[in-house]
Amino acid sequence: MVSKDMLRYGTVRSCIRELFEYGKQRAAVVGEENVYDFSLGNPSVPAPEEVNQAIRNIVNELPSKAIHSYTSGPGSNTARTAIANNLNKRFGTDYKFTDLYLTAGAAAALTAVSRALTIDDKTEFIAFAPFFTEYSCFATTAGAKLTVIPADIPAFQINFELLDKSINENTQGVIVNSPNNPSGVIYTEETIKGLAALLKRKSADVGHPIFIISDEPYRELVYEGKVPFIPHYYPNTIICYSYSKSLSLPGERIGYALVPGSVEDHDDVYNAIAGAGRILGYVCAPSLMQHVITRCADIKPDLRPYIENRELIYNGLTEIGYNCAKPSGAFYLFVEAPNGDAQAFSNMAKQHDLLIVPGNDFGCPSYVRISYCVDHDMVKRSLPVFKKLMEKVRA
Ligand code: PLP
Repeated sequence: MVSKDMLRYGTVRSCIRELFEYGKQRAAVVGEENVYDFSLGNPSVPAPEEVNQAIRNIVNELPSKAIHSYTSGPGSNTARTAIANNLNKRFGTDYKFTDLYLTAGAAAALTAVSRALTIDDKTEFIAFAPFFTEYSCFATTAGAKLTVIPADIPAFQINFELLDKSINENTQGVIVNSPNNPSGVIYTEETIKGLAALLKRKSADVGHPIFIISDEPYRELVYEGKVPFIPHYYPNTIICYSYSKSLSLPGERIGYALVPGSVEDHDDVYNAIAGAGRILGYVCAPSLMQHVITRCADIKPDLRPYIENRELIYNGLTEIGYNCAKPSGAFYLFVEAPNGDAQAFSNMAKQHDLLIVPGNDFGCPSYVRISYCVDHDMVKRSLPVFKKLMEKVRA
């Protein structure tokens, strides 16, 4: 009666959502202060006051029709111009508003790009473990295949030997995500240069461009070092961006796909993304949020609470004896399960109302993810529980 695939996506909850729902149930029983919920990546820093003020001003200043009407499919020219100006100022580029296609967040940008680049059922995309779990459904529902390159443990950069072997004439794109969910690691400039060199060589071998699809919702959440701006290194880069994390607006659904002028067959790529947005029924990105971005494209996030949490949890856990990938950005800590089995360790933690996500779905079954976009006090209260768990494993 219905599509088996869609039914599965609609009924089987992700492990993250399962833990989150469980946490809510437990809080009702044992009290909120006794549940240590590190499951979700919902920003704990409130949206900047400038954003809230912009919403009030827009509602007070503009006629209702101007705020709530359909915009053109790729987004209003003013919002796209504001974004292009921001990028050009920061990265010395010369992007035009016609390079930007506004979307309901990075997820919508990624699904549209996956559809746009899928040529037939032989098409392949490549992702690097650990990877955002939704990539596999974005690729497969587009009709393509997702090949996952195993994690480069413990540095969480890229295993180029395996990448080299995995590329073939059907490879259309390589998805990168830095700062990374779930590891918090940033790809170094050396990694990006290596990736660019390899993909240039492979594109020549297979006779068509292999695109980098750079998924960048955490680009502004950086605590150490710099995030190399990938189009500077590789011309065939398409960026999928979101304001969900940088402006703490995940429920408002606003982001974009950027197709720089350097992308081969730029207009076809751009128009195919717009076509994908059309058939997916996106129509246009939320109009009020387009007005907000027009006014707030230059606003920077307040990183202080994340920095404080990162210090506390990273230092706290390493002192107890946990091995963690040192996170330079995003708001995740990726920790080696001390018993070697992430699922078993997550289950064990759950018995103590400590909710941490096993890395299995991220393609890394020996690590667990801790989302530290939470209340600072909860991080403090959770450390003795992490200690108890370590003692249990060592006993
Ligand atoms: N990509 C990564 C790596 C993410 O972590 C997320 C959300 O958590 C997304 C994409 C989707 O972001 P959005 O809320 O903008 O759709």
